[in-house]
Amino acid sequence: MTDTDAYDALVIGGGPAGLSAALNLGRSLMRVLLVDADRPRNAATLNSHGFLTRDGVPPHELRRIAREELAAYPNIEVRTRVRVLSLERSDGAGDAPPSDAGTARFTASVGRRDPARVVTARSVVLATGLRETLPEVPNLRGFYGISLFSCAACDAWEMRGRRLALIGTTDDLTDRARLISRWTDHLTVFTLGADTVTVAQEAELAAAGVAVARHPISELVGDRGRIEAIRLEDGTEVAIDGGFVRPQWETDLSFLRGFSPSVDHDGHLVTDRSGRTDIPGLYAAGDAAIPGPQQLIVAAGAGARVASVLVQDAVGITTAH
Ligand SMILES: Cc1cc2nc3c(=O)[nH]c(=O)nc-3n(C[C@H](O)[C@H](O)[C@H](O)COP(=O)(O)OP(=O)(O)OC[C@H]3O[C@@H](n4cnc5c(N)ncnc54)[C@H](O)[C@@H]3O)c2cc1C
Repeated sequence: MTDTDAYDALVIGGGPAGLSAALNLGRSLMRVLLVDADRPRNAATLNSHGFLTRDGVPPHELRRIAREELAAYPNIEVRTRVRVLSLERSDGAGDAPPSDAGTARFTASVGRRDPARVVTARSVVLATGLRETLPEVPNLRGFYGISLFSCAACDAWEMRGRRLALIGTTDDLTDRARLISRWTDHLTVFTLGADTVTVAQEAELAAAGVAVARHPISELVGDRGRIEAIRLEDGTEVAIDGGFVRPQWETDLSFLRGFSPSVDHDGHLVTDRSGRTDIPGLYAAGDAAIPGPQQLIVAAGAGARVASVLVQDAVGITTAH
């Protein structure tokens, strides 16, 4: 390993959170390495909405523009389609008791093949996003990101007033249905045979004009990702123009070695309001850390905030400005 492999900050993940963190760290004269496997959560979709000045932009275009901007900074190095394979605290502090951020050293192995490149960094920003598991419905993948989505704030506008579905098995389904019914009077909740909508909740939804279909789904009907109907195992077919699924999410921390930051019951990294995890020198931003809203502009904002705090911590000050 040479000096060229020693960085002030390693940013893992090149979605809006990581890109924004890297930009702001670089502008603060930090030597930054951003490593991105380039498998964003929203890869399934054609257009992203709600990002000020970029409403409707294709997801890969947003990243391309951001990477182009980063390229103007000689102190920011970007490696895409490459994964951080392992990350350890090289001072060996482990979980308890962690040393303070000033003495933290991280060692990362970066690459696709053996031997991977080894780099060190004084601080690390985890911006690795979330892994999604979609509800178990045959042929759902073919519709996801085209006419079925997961984020109402992101995609409901385009489907307002249409016949919509909400598909899931989690216990927040009723709340999600109430949210989505802002955009349509024709919503059906599909529970896939799970018992997550109670009889009382079903009555509450019925009063709001929302139907509940409790049988498992046998098939989604449609063409080239455009959904037209949902066929249930009891033979019923419900005409549908679009809708939402409720995935399960998890944060993949399997590459961390010898230390484990706290995660909440949903698997998100627990941080303070500024993005510090409970491991000194380790920060988190974006979907990996926040319980929501899971949106591009929120992730980008979190990346900028974490960069600012990381620089303040490096200087040893606590002011927020
Ligand atoms: C179908 C769909 C549609 C969406 N539409 C919208 C929309 O219209 N508007 C909106 O605001 N939001 C939308 N979202 C939500 C949005 O995609 C997320 O909120 C946003 O991408 C979160 O940004 P992030 O930087 O935290 O994570 P991501 O964008 O997911 O980026 C994380 C990156 O980290 C990389 N990574 C993970 N592990 C490693 C590793 N070990 N080493 C290196 N790299 C790694 C991944 O490959 C990925 O490139 C949508 C989501 C989905 C699923």
